[in-house]
Amino acid sequence: MNPLISTVDFNERPFIAIWEVTQACDLACVHCRASAQPDRHPMELSTEEGKDLIDQIAALKVPVFVLTGGDPIKRPDLFELIDYARSVEVRVSLTPSATPLLTREVVVRLKTAGLARLAVSMDGASAETHDAFRGMSGSFARTLDAVRWANEIGLPVQINTTFSRRNIAEIDDLVALMDSLKITLWSVFFLVPTGRGKLNDLLNAEEFEQVFATIYDLSKKANFDIKTTEAQHYRRFILQQGVAERKAGSAPKLHPDKAADAIGRAPRGLNDGKGFVFISHTGEVFPSGFLPLSGGNIRLQELAVIYRDSPLFQGLRDTSRLEGKCGACEFKEVCGGSRARAYSLTGNPNAEEPCCVYVPKGFVPPLQAARAATLHVLRRA
Ligand code: SF4
Ligand code: SF4
Repeated sequence: MNPLISTVDFNERPFIAIWEVTQACDLACVHCRASAQPDRHPMELSTEEGKDLIDQIAALKVPVFVLTGGDPIKRPDLFELIDYARSVEVRVSLTPSATPLLTREVVVRLKTAGLARLAVSMDGASAETHDAFRGMSGSFARTLDAVRWANEIGLPVQINTTFSRRNIAEIDDLVALMDSLKITLWSVFFLVPTGRGKLNDLLNAEEFEQVFATIYDLSKKANFDIKTTEAQHYRRFILQQGVAERKAGSAPKLHPDKAADAIGRAPRGLNDGKGFVFISHTGEVFPSGFLPLSGGNIRLQELAVIYRDSPLFQGLRDTSRLEGKCGACEFKEVCGGSRARAYSLTGNPNAEEPCCVYVPKGFVPPLQAARAATLHVLRRA
């Protein structure tokens, strides 16, 4: 994790900005939050608008800037945009789709244009399961090819994996696969039922803990970093494990960089709209790609103004608005639960995280409280 995270005031600027350069993609993943389809949208931000956005990212000094999609390779000006970002000292990561458009020549051109990191998706440990997830046979093999090509030319690689009911049984095989690859970061996403993502595929709270335990163990020995997306309660898990291990006298001897990473990440409380911003292909500014509520449009307002001043973003950074368990939780400043998942299941971005096992000390669920109050009244009557 970037050590700069401890220096970023989330009220002033995001730590991560993701620009969805296009919604077009030739894959048809079952969990696609973008509901991507093959053709580019006529109202996509133009090259000049994209460069203006990159200038704003540079002025805001956002440490992590990601070009995503759709499939960014569907944009013919992709190399020009990356080259431009480099010229204004913005480091760019890219998440291309593993289709026939992703060739060795393209990977080399991306590096030459100034790409800092290539991020590819791996949602199954075998071609059979990954390709079924992605809706295209050959996608697994192409992903492995892309990793190898990037390794060959010294371009850092990140793997993105989305855990859902469809692949949780493969978690040990996926861990073994990650261990066998030369990667910088394993970015572990947890499904949010939005776009094509289905509620039936959502892991339950116990299954979240199971994944947390597996990646926590892996983080102690892996030679790559691990980060989670839309699982803010992994920070609560790390803190709880740290306390338990210190009590047991078995606190892990992490590599100093990793120790700083785990500790540095935990207190920061990065969340949707709080250190994180997503700019859609038409310029709408969302708190994340999984939370489709717009704070404004960069065609009408500066990104900084929307991020700092829109009621939506200000509200999401205000932990006093959290409801249910999250509102009562002693971990809410470092965690706060996934605002995107709360919104997708309830329509309320301040509702409690639906997939967390933790019950805050002294918290009484509203139904239980109502039942107790009724009993109290009945006993007094
Ligand atoms: S590769 Fe990404 S954008 Fe394309 S369909 Fe899959 S999830 Fe959607
Ligand atoms: S109850 Fe909410 S704030 Fe507390 S750990 Fe769970 S998700 Fe995080």
